[in-house]
Amino acid sequence: MAMNPPSLQSVSIARGSRLCNIHMQPTAQNLCQRSRPRHMVVPHVAQQHRAPGPISLPMSSTSSVDSDESTVHRLSRKLSAADLEPWMISVRRSLHAEPELSFKEHKTSQFIRQQLDKLGIRYDYPVARTGIVAHLGSGAPGSPCVALRADMDALPITELTGAPYGSTHTGCMHACGHDAHCAMLLGAAALLKARERELAGGRVKLLFQPAEEADGGGKVMVAEGVVADVDAAFALHVWPQLPAGTIATRPGPLMAGVLSFEATVKGRGGHAAMPHTTVNPVIAAASIVAELKPLVTAHLPPYEPVVVNVCHMSSDGEAFNVVPDTVRFGGTVRAFSDDIMRQLKQRLTEVVAVQARVHGCEGIVDFREDKEPYFPPLVNNPSMSDFARSVAKRVVGEGGVALADLTMASEDFAFIAQQVPACFAFLGVRNEERGIVHGLHSPLFDLDEGALKVGAAYLASLAHDYLSQRAAAATQRRHAHGTQHHESASSFTFS
Ligand SMILES: [Zn+2]
Ligand SMILES: [Zn+2]
Repeated sequence: MAMNPPSLQSVSIARGSRLCNIHMQPTAQNLCQRSRPRHMVVPHVAQQHRAPGPISLPMSSTSSVDSDESTVHRLSRKLSAADLEPWMISVRRSLHAEPELSFKEHKTSQFIRQQLDKLGIRYDYPVARTGIVAHLGSGAPGSPCVALRADMDALPITELTGAPYGSTHTGCMHACGHDAHCAMLLGAAALLKARERELAGGRVKLLFQPAEEADGGGKVMVAEGVVADVDAAFALHVWPQLPAGTIATRPGPLMAGVLSFEATVKGRGGHAAMPHTTVNPVIAAASIVAELKPLVTAHLPPYEPVVVNVCHMSSDGEAFNVVPDTVRFGGTVRAFSDDIMRQLKQRLTEVVAVQARVHGCEGIVDFREDKEPYFPPLVNNPSMSDFARSVAKRVVGEGGVALADLTMASEDFAFIAQQVPACFAFLGVRNEERGIVHGLHSPLFDLDEGALKVGAAYLASLAHDYLSQRAAAATQRRHAHGTQHHESASSFTFS
């Protein structure tokens, strides 16, 4: 159901010192002005934080109100993601204005916790340093559990969009859309909270994860046991190659595993006019780089997509008449299976060592896993992928669902997908008419915020429908000769 706002009125959305003006529905009431309901449990707030800003959530004026007058039950069970759109846009813009780098998402985390407080959703904090795990559903240990994940961090990029909600942190920008991911997961949280009784005795974990862009926050969350009791996990990423509102995924490998490397080629420096008295590492390194990819990949199956790319090169000298002692070059290797990644790692080490020796030099490779952990390939579980596609079709219709192209970019949701059956999907945010065409990690990146409601409806539907299917399967097992169980409700809508 749409709440059909008859007209729009402007309200102020504040976060810290920053104000954004957006339009809100006249039926919206300010949750933060209410006292916290008696039963609301916020178990693990480790620090005091300022009073929530006046961001409003839409609530139905006709919704049934339970006797305890809780905020939660004022969210209409017929809430649509479209009703949440102004709030989600304000959340996204607030986060966008104050981006924070990996494992430094302190204000971001605080802001998200404030929104969860308003929704009456309990959570654990801190998890993986700055992360949050919020909980919905029965809470019964051992009951089916589904996880939805959003990443929170930004990139060391200076924003050039000129948007009024642009970054206020010089040299830091939400250029990968993680601000939108958080806004959509909060939207899904509100939708699920409004229909929490339909979660079929199961549980939903909402993972607000730090440090996707660097340091592998997903790996830390896994190490802290966040998904140990999870049966299925889902996440999405905004995707500027796809039209806004399109959902795309594919079974099996979707995104590449990645390792960074730095090679060191050691020779013997000296006077450039006397090359016979030196061993020139510049010539050795240039030769190695030129032949690197064909030599490293020579024995791999030709149908396996791989990247072997060199991105920087330097020597320990800049003079025009001095042969340096050492040259370093570094880059990235990427592939779609751990086995191919192992082969690339071994072969790269051999090629650099052997080719350096050809030139009389020593060559060694450092894969820097102490600084940048190996991100494994992101592999979608086939049955979870089928399920996600069926949910996407219910949410956006057959025409709005596409088979995703493989991408050599990486994504640390892969750590979670290694542990539990999972599906990652792309959500289109492109809008050529409005000039929203720039790629991820571009200083000009922006997104069509109209896609937020689609993403929220999709995420909420995944959790709701997964738990409904688990309950239906359990019922069928208990009543093997009984009648077919029918799902309690359909997917969430965004219109
Ligand atoms: Zn990114
Ligand atoms: Zn990203």
